Parts: sequence; C-alpha cells; structure tokens
Amino acid sequence: MQQVNTFSAPLALIYRLSLIALASLAFSACGGSSGEGSNSGGANSSTSSSSSSSSSSSSSSSSSSSSSTGGGAALVKPISVSGNQILFGGAVGSIAGPSLFWSNTGWGGEKYYTKEVVAWIKQNWNATLVRAAMGVDANGGYISDPANNKARVVEVVDAAIANNMYVIIDWHSHHAEDYQTEAIDFFTEMANAYGEYDNVIYEIYNEPLNASETGLSNNTAVWNDLIKPYAEDVIAAIRAIDPDNLIIVGTPSWSQDVDIASNNPITSSINIAYTLHFYAASHKASLRSKASTALDNNIALFATEWGTVTYTGDGDVDASSTDTWMSFFKTHGISHANWALNDKSEGASALAPGASASGNWSASDLTESGTLVKGIIESW
Ligand code: MG
Repeated sequence: MQQVNTFSAPLALIYRLSLIALASLAFSACGGSSGEGSNSGGANSSTSSSSSSSSSSSSSSSSSSSSSTGGGAALVKPISVSGNQILFGGAVGSIAGPSLFWSNTGWGGEKYYTKEVVAWIKQNWNATLVRAAMGVDANGGYISDPANNKARVVEVVDAAIANNMYVIIDWHSHHAEDYQTEAIDFFTEMANAYGEYDNVIYEIYNEPLNASETGLSNNTAVWNDLIKPYAEDVIAAIRAIDPDNLIIVGTPSWSQDVDIASNNPITSSINIAYTLHFYAASHKASLRSKASTALDNNIALFATEWGTVTYTGDGDVDASSTDTWMSFFKTHGISHANWALNDKSEGASALAPGASASGNWSASDLTESGTLVKGIIESW
C-alpha cells in the first residue's frame, strides 16, 4: 500500500511503556519455540500448478535446519525454490494468511502484534502464514524506535513458531536502499535468532518506488541499479548465517514490475522469490500479465501483500476482482498475505474499529473485507 499514515502521540506513549517490559522478555527467548502445537502448518499442495521447466534446480535446501533445534521447529516444512515454483518440503504448494499493519509506534496497528492474535488466526482462520510489517524509515518506525518495533516483530515470530505457522519478517519501506546498513544489521540479527527455523521468511524490501520517484531513467534502471544491488548485499549478509530460508525481494513500482526483475534475476543465492503486490479494485489483467511474464521467465513470485480495495488501502471491496486474483494464485501456486489485520477505519482493514488485540473476534468484529479474506484463508 502506498499510503503513509499519520502519527498519534498518546498511543505511542502507552505502547512505549508497555513494550519496554515485553522487549526484554522476548529477547531472552531468542527465537525459542515452545513447540506445543499439534497441527501441521504445512502448505496446501492441491494446486494444479503449471510449473514451467524448472531449469534452475535450486531446491537443494541443505536441510540442516530444524534438526538441531528441538521443540516444534520441525513441524513446518522447509521452503525452497525451484524455477518459478515455491516448494514446501519439496512439494509444490502455497500458503495464506493476513499481514499485520505497519508496526510503527503510535499508528494504531501495532496493538495487534500479539501472540494471542497469532494463535487466533491459526485456530480460527486456519492461517498458515502471518506477516510482520515492520515500519522502517517512516515516523515511529525501526529507525527512530528500534527496540519497540523489533519487540513487536519478535513477539509475532515467536508466536508463529509456537503455532507451527510461517512468518514473514518484512522490512516495510519504500526507501530501503537508503537504509542498507540498518537492514544488514537487522537481518543479521534475525538470521542469527531464527535462521534455524523453517517457519521464517525474510522480506528485505516491501515496496520500491518507480523511475519518476527515484530519479532514474526507467524502471529497468530502478531494478538493475538500485534494488538488485541492495538485495544482493542484504542476501549475502543473511546467507552468511542462514543458508536456506526463503528470501523475498521487492520489485519496481510498489512491487508490481515483476516482469522487469525477471529479465535480470538474482543468481547469487538459492531460494529467492520476488514480490508481487496487487489491490483488487485497482490492478487487474494487465498486472496479471506482468506476473505471467515473470513466471514464463522462470522466477518465483510471492504476494506478500494484497488488498480487496484500491491501492490507497481504501475504497469499496472488489470481490469479483479478488476472486479472479485468487484463482490465478491457485493455478500458479502463489502464496499470499492480505493487507491488513488492523482496525483503522479504511476499506482494507480486516477488523472493525475497536476489535480486541487478543483475538477471539466475533463475526461483527470483521469488516466486509475481513469477512471475505477470512473465508479465502480458511479454505486455502
Ligand atoms: Mg535456515
């Protein structure tokens, strides 16, 4: 979503106070999993995927992970990439769940970064995935408030592991190349804490901008000269610690120009996928055409963020367009996370204003979008 949100000071203060204690607790756990869950968080493998010739057989997920960690860490299958397909335990499949809203202090969405919410969407929505969208440079994000933002992410990641779900750690920025040093430090810390857990997916750049906004000549240059060099450096830092977990790379024009990325893919590492974002009321056949081009060029796609409404995050739900997109994702084995598990008063929010930060939501706690999205995730 391209919209930036306003800052609310009182909430920021409340959360800063409450999360100081939380942060110290979470870090002492250091990625430890309780592993009590009994349900497998495995991928739905019922897709009729078209998988074109997977020439780059890069699926050698040297599965050293999950063997030494004990607990429930082995209960999700390791993810690997082979050609244009993302594999779960070596089988084609896809996963689905909600994305949390920006984690930024004081924006309102951060209250849902709780272990109770994660457990609820597993139990009640049948979610196999949750995305922690850690705000970076925008007001109240990681750059200005690292401890609280990181603590929110850690709580969600630990809860996802405990509930045998996959979790995306998202560097939620439109300007990640300006914060490459911070990204490398952050993902190094995350890889050290969580690299052994097959649950964890690294999303290193949410939505890069387009040529006119970056001052580059065209969107090919945005990919070749800006995003790709950033990604290769961050990937190298992660891979120095974690050899195999999935890494997802943003693409030009708010993660829509996957076709451009596919013309010059990253070859420095295995298990790389590329970000495709859509908003159903704004983006339709022409964006699916870009996705098809990228798949034909043999890169794997992951929709780390999509909405039922317009790209602004607001407007009416477009159920018909959403359905067309979900059929496309099923056909091609594309995993996805819906924007956003939040109660802000806008069309994309899944929750009605005031919905509890502990889950246990009734039908009336869900918006029109939330009701539609819960149904999609439940039956994915
Ligand atoms: Mg690993």
